[in-house]
Amino acid sequence: MFRRVLIANRGEVALRVIRACRDMGAEAVVVYSEADKDMPYVELADEAICIGPASSADSYLDIPRIIAAAEITDVDAIHPGYGFLAENSHFAEVCEACNIAFIGPPPSVIADCGNKARAKDVARSAKVPVVPGSDGAVETDEDAVAIARKIGYPVIIKAASGGGGRGMRVASNEVSLLNSFHQARSEAQAAFNDATVYIEKYVEDPRHIEFQILAGPDGNTIHLGERDCSIQRRHQKLIEESPSPALDPKLRNKMGAAAVAFAKAAGYRNAGTVEFLLDKDGSFYFIELNARIQVEHCVTEMVTGIDLVAWQLRIASGEPLTIRQKDVKLKGHAIEFRINAENPDRGFAPTPGFIQKLVLPGGRGVRMDTYLAGGCTIPRYYDSMVAKLLVYGDDRSEAIQIGNRALSEIRVEGPGLHTTTPLHRRILAQAEFVNGDVDTGFLERFLEE
Ligand code: ADP
Repeated sequence: MFRRVLIANRGEVALRVIRACRDMGAEAVVVYSEADKDMPYVELADEAICIGPASSADSYLDIPRIIAAAEITDVDAIHPGYGFLAENSHFAEVCEACNIAFIGPPPSVIADCGNKARAKDVARSAKVPVVPGSDGAVETDEDAVAIARKIGYPVIIKAASGGGGRGMRVASNEVSLLNSFHQARSEAQAAFNDATVYIEKYVEDPRHIEFQILAGPDGNTIHLGERDCSIQRRHQKLIEESPSPALDPKLRNKMGAAAVAFAKAAGYRNAGTVEFLLDKDGSFYFIELNARIQVEHCVTEMVTGIDLVAWQLRIASGEPLTIRQKDVKLKGHAIEFRINAENPDRGFAPTPGFIQKLVLPGGRGVRMDTYLAGGCTIPRYYDSMVAKLLVYGDDRSEAIQIGNRALSEIRVEGPGLHTTTPLHRRILAQAEFVNGDVDTGFLERFLEE
């Protein structure tokens, strides 16, 4: 096991990794920007080091500053968390070159999976079904039109380097196609510094089903069941659960085997997530692999009893993955609610600011992962997710009941502050949600009403 780990991230995930380091007997070093200097989690680390001003470009995304911090604090590994540099293959390479273990897959695997059009090629080679579409990048208007005609409308144009639900546009006919194609390219260039886009069939009202993967240093690869992440706004997840109400053991085995086949074909190592769309007729299609720990990993921890971040540390330090597929048993039901400091009544505008009153829920079946504490200020520079409420019950209806109770206990109050908590309570009151009868369009339809 590592002696000392640097966490190149902030907020909730930084705290999550500090805790895993404690559990594993490793020391934890956190980096922080000037905006995060008074964050309570910073004090919980064995050492903390300031890496620059508030702007992420000059702090959490600045590779030389992070490597310098790692050298000054004499760590033997870096955990990138999620977001920021987590899927930056160049960063993973620099870590390796500096003899610091990168807690994640090898740089070449990050690069292959980071290009979503190339990842689809890997899926095809592993005989994993993909959404019908262009074979790789689409560069000209003529190609875009020809491909869309071939696969049939509606189609979706996606940024090859995209992530976080950005860089995607749906087109339902030829007129909107060319507009969307050009917009998607310039958006992709601006957001990801890569204008490459590809086109695929727009699957109408699918479910988003993803499989958690663990792959040991020797290639032993298993899946830890699925997460259903169909409650999304603008392709961004808001509620995730495991198991999915839409999967029976047969479909779970089939999709899980496809996820493992993909991970093996990609040469995957460490923890990752294989994402699929599940169509109404039970067909499923690979969409991408996320080469990192995900926000929603905790629902899998609750139903499997397996500590994913601890396993990330073990695998990166060269320890074998001793869990076999047959050892993985799903028990009970877990749901995660993302608590974002946003105002749903004002287009989900972020509401950073000072927290005057903070009451966190607890009791049976509740896990609250958050960096918040009373008297702290939510900075305006970063992602608006401030907490994750996780609930666990023997079955889905008990988890929903505990979710209602826990959501009703939460108070995050301060001048101008709003959160997604009231929205979650409204979603839990919807018959479709309670019946498990939702798809990726559910939340947008609900919000429109
Ligand atoms: P990102 O990496 O930005 O999260 P993904 O490829 O994982 O992008 O897709 C995010 C979400 O976008 C999916 O969960 C789904 O709701 C929607 N989506 C992506 N591709 C398609 C598609 N071909 N048809 C319908 N919806 C899609």
